[in-house]
Amino acid sequence: MVIEALRERGVASRAELARVTELSRSTISTIVGDLIGDGLAVERNGQPEGESHAGRPGVMVALDPSAGVALGIDFGHRHLRVAVSDLSHTVLAERWCELDVDHSASEGLARASEFVEEIMVEANLDRDNVIGVVMGLPAPINRVSGTVQDASILPGWVGIDAAGEASARLDLPVAVENDANLGALAELTWGAARGRSEVAYLKVASGVGGGLISGGRLARGVGGTAGEIGHTVVAERGPVCRCGNRGCLETLASTRAVASLLSQSRREEISTRRLLELAAEGDAATGRLIGDAGRAVGVAVANLCNIVNPECVVIGGDLALAGDVLLDPIRDAVARSAIPSAAADTEIVVGVLGERAEMLGALALVMHESERFASPGLKDAA
Ligand SMILES: [Zn+2]
Repeated sequence: MVIEALRERGVASRAELARVTELSRSTISTIVGDLIGDGLAVERNGQPEGESHAGRPGVMVALDPSAGVALGIDFGHRHLRVAVSDLSHTVLAERWCELDVDHSASEGLARASEFVEEIMVEANLDRDNVIGVVMGLPAPINRVSGTVQDASILPGWVGIDAAGEASARLDLPVAVENDANLGALAELTWGAARGRSEVAYLKVASGVGGGLISGGRLARGVGGTAGEIGHTVVAERGPVCRCGNRGCLETLASTRAVASLLSQSRREEISTRRLLELAAEGDAATGRLIGDAGRAVGVAVANLCNIVNPECVVIGGDLALAGDVLLDPIRDAVARSAIPSAAADTEIVVGVLGERAEMLGALALVMHESERFASPGLKDAA
């Protein structure tokens, strides 16, 4: 229990460990003493959670960084990001590149495998140090088989056993997870939802994804599709979506959808970066289109609030960089359309981890669900 708490938190004070494990302070002291004696944990100075008094750092406990490392791989629709961290959640090395992952799984996996080689060399690690690898993909993932559920959403990965292929290429144990679920976990562990337990996360980027946290844990549903808010219908006669339906939230609110409308009116190709620049400059048409996207997101979030009653909704992804231009219409729509008590319970905030959220979530998941990987040393100790 103590090792699990330390894996989830990175570092914790003895008092915090006693609280989360419900063990007595003296039992915790004995266990921590044993872990330090066995070389599995170390002490360091830090700020205990919930105590923000400046200048009062306490003695914190962390798992020994040399006890193992986690690898995280994040595929977006347009990028690849890979990182390695130690068990105290410190990122040791990281790589990223632009990549169109929609087209080819084998190209993506080849690139990820090169990056893994590079960061292992840079951080002076070998494969024996790796506890597990989590790979995020922007599609619903079958929670048992680790395969992409809906081929139309990520066509380049049709029929691919993503976890099996990646494990074989990297020669390491790989688990596959939906990217927005990873974003949710990252914002819970380090970001805007820290300390909360009922959380919804929306990734509004070139697609629209969602992840749900219930009781402090990822809620995946029976097959792994829970939280797919991007494919809920908000306009019955709206545009046709890549999932085969019409009027999905994603067809109205993704950066792809907004940029496409703006490209038509400005008669030039608009990238996501240009879209955000125009929003920051206060361009009227851009503000109007992002506002429309926000209202569509708000309708979907209002329905979500009625159903899962979260304490916090975190808006992440590229379009969240537009800030209040996107957030204000979401808040207005939730205030108007959700049950008043559900709307009152919910704080709607922007994610703080930006484009690294999903990659950090992959690292967090290795720690949160370490039972999914073989890790003899720590398992024996536990
Ligand atoms: Zn759809």
